[in-house]
Amino acid sequence: MDTTAYVYAGGCHCSNIKLAVELTKALNAYKPRACDCDFCKTHGASYLSDPQGKLVITTKDKDALSRYRQGDAIADFLICKICGVVAGVSFQSEAGLYATIEAGLYATINVKALSDRADCLPETSVSPKLLSTEDKIERWKKAWFSDVKFE
Ligand SMILES: [Zn+2]
Repeated sequence: MDTTAYVYAGGCHCSNIKLAVELTKALNAYKPRACDCDFCKTHGASYLSDPQGKLVITTKDKDALSRYRQGDAIADFLICKICGVVAGVSFQSEAGLYATIEAGLYATINVKALSDRADCLPETSVSPKLLSTEDKIERWKKAWFSDVKFE
C-alpha cells in the first residue's frame, strides 16, 4: 500500500483560518466539485476531500470563525468573519440522528482557499441540493475527510 501523504496548506485571505491538508494522491488527481447552490455559486467555491486523508483547521481568533448554515442547515460553512473567505464545510453527525450514520466529524475544503489552487483540475458541477438530507449525509460520509481536527 502506498502510504505517501501529499501535504498542502491553505486558509482564508487574512490567515485567521489555516488549513493543513494531507491527501493520499497529488492534488491534480482530484476533481474539485463546484456545488451549484446559490451560496456556493456566490462565493465561486468548489470542494475537494479525501476520505482517507487528514484535515486540520486552525483558527487564531475563534470568535472570527463564522459557521454559516443554509439549505438543509445541517452543515457548517466555515467562513472567516474578518476577510470573508469560505475555507470549507464541516458536518458534525450525532449518534442516532440517522440510523445509518455513525457519530463523527466530517469536512471538505474549498479549493479556492488552497495555496496550490492553480494545480487543481477544472471543477465539475454537482447538485447536492437535489439530494435528500439523508442522502447528502451519506455522500459526505463517503467523500469528505473523516479525520478532521479543529485547533
Ligand atoms: Zn480571514
